[in-house]
Amino acid sequence: MAMTDILIPAATLEDVVRRVFSAAGCDGPEAQRIAHHLLGANLAGHDSHGVVRVPRYVEWLQAGFVLKGQSASIVADGGAFLLMDGHYGFGQVVAEQAVRTAIARAVANGSCIMGLRNAGHIGRVGDYAEMAAAEGLISIHFVNVGGSVLVAPFGGVERRFSTAPFSVGVPLPEGPVILDFATSLVAEGKVLVASNGGKPLPEGALIAPDGTLSTDPHTLYGDYAPGGPRNPANGLGAIRAFGDHKGSGLAFMCEMLAGALTGGGTSGPVEGRGRITNGMLSIFLSPAHFGDKPAFEAAARRYIDWMHECTPADAAQPVLIPGEPEKARRADRLANGVPLPPETWGSIRATAVALGVNIPEGL
Ligand code: NAD
Repeated sequence: MAMTDILIPAATLEDVVRRVFSAAGCDGPEAQRIAHHLLGANLAGHDSHGVVRVPRYVEWLQAGFVLKGQSASIVADGGAFLLMDGHYGFGQVVAEQAVRTAIARAVANGSCIMGLRNAGHIGRVGDYAEMAAAEGLISIHFVNVGGSVLVAPFGGVERRFSTAPFSVGVPLPEGPVILDFATSLVAEGKVLVASNGGKPLPEGALIAPDGTLSTDPHTLYGDYAPGGPRNPANGLGAIRAFGDHKGSGLAFMCEMLAGALTGGGTSGPVEGRGRITNGMLSIFLSPAHFGDKPAFEAAARRYIDWMHECTPADAAQPVLIPGEPEKARRADRLANGVPLPPETWGSIRATAVALGVNIPEGL
């Protein structure tokens, strides 16, 4: 947390965000679901997918880019698989509906493969892996952002991929293990957060058209005013794919499975495309149906213990398993509040005030 950050109690922040989306025209459950998801991303420490998105989501709603009150519908139903359409609704809402539909199938039958297309921004993908884990299911999620080309592939300087996140969740009695990351070196939201004075970008996160590596958000956004909108269309550079040729390959497969296969479309070419949407191909698997659940859990427990016993390269940084940083951050922020850079809070506040939403005194 930076010295200048404003600390806001989680419940207060969630309530402000809920009232913003109600004032913007969403019904009660929709406003609540969006607020809960965004706050959840902040609690997990992924500020890039948290409340920083509020002004942009409201702009998208007002521009008709994302639609309120939509429900995910089934396009194809093979029993063991489902293809669903989000009809450009809020991603947090239609992806939850799609995931819950697939979860019910997997709980009943042991597995379900679900494709979702045309969802608005679904946010932090780990949220959906956590939903599945809460119902005792393993889940794997390939996600892309149709029409959003931001990431240079291995060896390239031009944008070809979206930030195409990938997530895997494993339910265990002591709590789920959740892997969840963008296949770009950083999520676009992390560039947004850095441009608002938040956490700086890691070395080499961005690449300029001449191949120079950069940590300057202007490489992605071009010129912008403090507190003003950030538009990647105004920048000439790109975010880099993580993990050299391997991360670049995983991003490629996210575009194939979540974009091309679902019919939601790949990151580009973007000509003639009206909207930016998330696509997702998810696999849900029940360990109880698949084999010996107690034996799986015992083996997983032994393996996690062995991971934790690994001697760290830096004595101050113990070896962690996926999801542990988020768990620790969640406990801290629930107890102590969510830190927001003043610029981020200022832009949320301005959006709220413009919609006639009262801000609690002192904030
Ligand atoms: P990140 O680089 O912080 O990586 C997070 C993952 O790495 C987590 O699984 C975490 O538990 C694990 N991790 C972190 N530190 C670790 C350590 N020291 N040891 C072991 N494991 C560790 O995440 P990111 O790439 O910046 O992505 C942030 C969020 O953005 C994700 O929630 C992702 O779903 C979301 N995202 C969404 C979209 C979208 O279109 N909806 C696009 C891109 C990213």
